[in-house]
Amino acid sequence: MTSDADSNQICSTIDDDTIELHAMRRLPEGPIRDHLGVCPSCKERVAEQRAWILDLKHALERFEAKEVSNADGLDTADGGDEEIQNEPKPKFIS
Ligand SMILES: [Zn+2]
Repeated sequence: MTSDADSNQICSTIDDDTIELHAMRRLPEGPIRDHLGVCPSCKERVAEQRAWILDLKHALERFEAKEVSNADGLDTADGGDEEIQNEPKPKFIS
């Protein structure tokens, strides 16, 4: 496999900042897209960058979900009092 050596080489046509911007879709589609079509090395760099961004996004979502569920936990603790009021009480003791 001769292509292995090629894919391990870091392509100097597109720098890391541009790869990052493209991965975040903050670049207008243009010459970079044409280059990605012919350069598996840069395509992989974009894929890695996107995976990293996705990881970060998921970590943030998990963090926010945890904060919301903590707030819910406080609400259910308050609601517990209602059940005690609904309990049947003995009316007469003879
Ligand atoms: Zn390239």
